[in-house]
Parts: sequence; structure tokens; C-alpha cells
Amino acid sequence: MTIQISIPARRSLRTLVAGGAGFIGSHICDTLLRRGDTVICTDNLHTGSLRNIRPLLNHPNFSFIEHDVRAPLEIDGRLDRIYNFACPASPPHYQQDPVGTMKTCVLGTINLLELARQTSARILQASTSEVYGDPEVHPQPESYVGHVNTIGPRACYDEGKRAAETLMFDYRRMHGIDIKVARIFNTYGPRMHEDDGRVVSNFIVQALRGAPITVYGSGSQTRSFCFVDDLVRGLEMLMESPESVTGPVNLGNPHEMSIEAIAREVLTCTRSSSTLEFKPLPVDDPKRRKPVIATAERLLGWRPQIPLRKGLEATIAYFALEAAGRAQSGPD
Ligand code: NAD
Ligand code: UDP
Repeated sequence: MTIQISIPARRSLRTLVAGGAGFIGSHICDTLLRRGDTVICTDNLHTGSLRNIRPLLNHPNFSFIEHDVRAPLEIDGRLDRIYNFACPASPPHYQQDPVGTMKTCVLGTINLLELARQTSARILQASTSEVYGDPEVHPQPESYVGHVNTIGPRACYDEGKRAAETLMFDYRRMHGIDIKVARIFNTYGPRMHEDDGRVVSNFIVQALRGAPITVYGSGSQTRSFCFVDDLVRGLEMLMESPESVTGPVNLGNPHEMSIEAIAREVLTCTRSSSTLEFKPLPVDDPKRRKPVIATAERLLGWRPQIPLRKGLEATIAYFALEAAGRAQSGPD
């Protein structure tokens, strides 16, 4: 049975967005303000940037608190919703300080769950397809328990996110917290960091500069890419779903493609003459990844709508504008 969720009919909410100055978090802040919510954004600006939320800083319903979620956070007044995006998401970033990443996942989630407990707010955790590791089941349904190498360089993130899911469900069992867990698959779009290290931003920036496109391994490994607007809609629908819908719910685009194919698609869309440069495959790089989204379809009535070509064009336009802005303002 599909439950119809009518988001616009809701009362105005007071929402905390942790990691709200990052790529996905800043898009959520935009969406919540557009629908009339009051948004408190918190971020330690580790991988996020004030640039992402600059247009919001003067909005009467928006406030920003610079804070690291590894420390407890106090919020005055009522709180209805908490989104937890606070965690570096790109492999080079989360591997820079692996112990810090694990602490962010574990202590950050505990601190936000405690805040949810104090305020009776509903809390949504941004989990990840990385909880499936290098999957032996393909495509990946939520029932798959995963295949993570606990001692590899990706484990600080994968295991941190797995522990965060455990904490969400333990707080629900122990304290009756109203929880939602979204397992987000590879997402791309405007406001990814240009030096982020993730594949779509890397390829676009390289193609626009005419630099070699760095394909790791043979390029035959696959991912399934979701445009950020589709993801944000899914996250919002999950957050506003009935309390019985806790997740985990996969949110991603099931359109699977090889990394070489995405490189060629970026070259076509940018009309770039860059060539492919093959580099070593990082340790523990998952070979295949594709979400089963039947749960999101059934419980939320959600499925992605934006085709890759259209999403890439919007993302390329963003990076081209950023590059033009930098060229105009000269070297940093
Ligand atoms: P991002 O790096 O742009 O955003 C993360 C934000 O969290 C940044 O603004 C960063 O400064 C902030 N942050 C990091 N550590 C913090 C800390 N200790 N205290 C406070 N703030 C902190 O990445 P993103 O792509 O927007 O990812 C957002 C969330 O979604 C992450 O939790 C990530 O694990 C999850 N996710 C993203 C993807 C994706 O493809 N983008 C896929 C799966 C899961
Ligand atoms: N990748 C690549 N070139 C790059 C960056 C990434 O070939 O410049 C590959 C990477 O090895 C992986 C895939 O693209 O197989 C997706 O990488 P990303 O870091 O974006 O996401 P994740 O591995 O976390 O899914």
C-alpha cells in the first residue's frame, strides 16, 4: 500500500540541520525555508562552506551556529525536527582524519539523539550505501546486512555510519525517540566541492579545465547516481512520513552505470577534448552499487525523476559559473 504524504499541508516547523553548510544539507536548508519552516543550521565548516548558505544568512527564519557535533549542543526553545548530515562524505576527506570521522559518526549521532530526547524532536540520520561495503548481493535491498572490511581505510566511515544506525534504533528502543534512517546512494549536483574527490565533481572540473579525466582502476566498477533535487525530495518525504516508518530506507537512483561510462557522458555534456587517464583503484573500492528502491516507492511514493543528462547539465552549469567567478576575481 502506498501512503500518500502531503508535505505542503503541514504546520510550520522548527528544524535543526546539522551539517547544513555542506552539499546536501544546504539544499535541505533551502527547501525547508521555502516551505516556511524556521531553520537552525549548525556546522563546523570542516568540508562545508558558508558560501553554500550565504544567501540564507539574512533570511528572518534562518540562523547559523558554528559547532562541532562531537560536543553536545543546546538549542533554546522548541525543536520539531533534526536532520543529521554532519560528517565528511568523500573518501579523501573522511580518510584524512579517520578517528575524527568515527567520532563524528558516533559522538555526533549520540549528541543529536540526546537533543532529540530533550526536545521530543523527530530525527533523521543521513546513513549511506557504504553500510553495504563491497556488496556480495546485487542490487542492494535494505535487508542486506552488508560486507564491510572492518580494518580497511574506508571503515572509519562505513563502520561509523553502521554504528550511527545502531544508535538510532537503540535510542528508539530505549527512549522511544521518533527516528528515520535514510541510506543515501551516490548523489551529485550543484554545491559539491570542486576539490571534493568524488567522481562526478572530479570529472566535471577536469573536463571543464581540459585536464585528464582520472578514472580509477579499469573504470568497469559501477555506481548509480541520483541528482540532489530528487534526493532532497525523498529525504523530506521520509522525514514527514508516519512515525511507524523508521527505515532504513534506500534513497538513490537505480540507474547503474560504469565509471568509464560516466566519464564519457561528462565529456559529451561538456564538449571537452580531455582524455581518460587510468589510475590505480583505491583499496576496498566497491565493485558494484545499485539500490533497490521498492521500500521508498511503497512507503513514500518516491522515485527519482531527473535523468542523468539533465542533472549533469545543471551540475556542469554550476561548476562553469564557479570557474567564471574565480577567473573574474583573480587568484585567491
Ligand atoms: P559534505 O561534506 O558536503 O557535508 C557534510 C557537512 O558536515 C559539511 O558541511 C561539514 O562541514 C559538516 N561536518 C563534518 N563534520 C562535522 C562535525 N564534526 N560537526 C559539525 N559539522 C560537521 O557532504 P554531503 O555530500 O553533503 O553529505 C551529507 C551527509 O550525507 C553525510 O553525512 C554523508 O555521509 C551523507 N551521504 C552523502 C552521500 C552523497 O553522495 N553525497 C551519500 C551517502 C551519504
Ligand atoms: N573515481 C574515479 N575517479 C575519480 C574519483 C573517483 O574513477 O577521480 C571512482 C572511485 O574509485 C569509485 C567511483 O568513482 O569507484 C565513485 O567514487 P566516489 O568517491 O565518488 O564515491 P564512492 O566510492 O564513495 O561511491
